[in-house]
Amino acid sequence: MSVAENLARVKEQIADAAIRSNRSPESVKLVGVTKTVEIERIKEAVSAGLQILGENYVQEARTKIEQVGGQASWHFIGRLQSNKAKYAVKLFDLIQTVDTLKLATELNRRAQPLERVIPIIIQVNLAGEASKGGVHPAKCLQLIRQISEFTHLQIQGLMTMPPFFNDPERARPHFRRLRELSLEIAAAQLPNVEMDELSMGMSGDFETAIEEGATLIRVGTAIFGERP
Ligand SMILES: *Cc1c(COP(=O)(O)O)cnc(C)c1O
Repeated sequence: MSVAENLARVKEQIADAAIRSNRSPESVKLVGVTKTVEIERIKEAVSAGLQILGENYVQEARTKIEQVGGQASWHFIGRLQSNKAKYAVKLFDLIQTVDTLKLATELNRRAQPLERVIPIIIQVNLAGEASKGGVHPAKCLQLIRQISEFTHLQIQGLMTMPPFFNDPERARPHFRRLRELSLEIAAAQLPNVEMDELSMGMSGDFETAIEEGATLIRVGTAIFGERP
């Protein structure tokens, strides 16, 4: 199957999942995950209408952004080291994986001279997995409270990556928990904090995530095929 065909199928699945959960298909934005994907295939997806691309590595993204550039918007979805913050604020339209005050401080500092306010999403580690990034859910509100003081960052929501399951039903409670957490945070009504976005769901479980309220789904394999 071509990238364009895969993309069409994924979009259909998104619309079906949205409709059966009484949501509008437009309320779900598709982020095409392009780590390790070569430039021609990315261009093919963009030509076929993919508007948001997600990258895990700053270095890899830089070349791709130079070549595909402004035809799409770019989200950072990987683990970001503070020493890469200065590149990330220049390259990306949104950073989905902010999980420490240290990283946020550095992003804010680096965004200042660019006169940019960087939209960010806070990554939450719901299952406390050591192999993954994300703030512990119990510490999430406190972190958001601190970051909300920063003038050059704007919090838009939460992101999570649940443990890997073969059965998407097993991921459902994690998606539901992220949504509950975002409602708790929204109730605190912090200035400069919006809880509009829930970034959750990947190739194996995005339909379940949509049923649980995802507004951003991050899909690689189902669009571009298996990674090497
Ligand atoms: C690789 C990756 C994805 C996409 O995973 P697929 O299973 O290929 O859809 C989504 N989110 C993050 C953070 C990733 O690193």
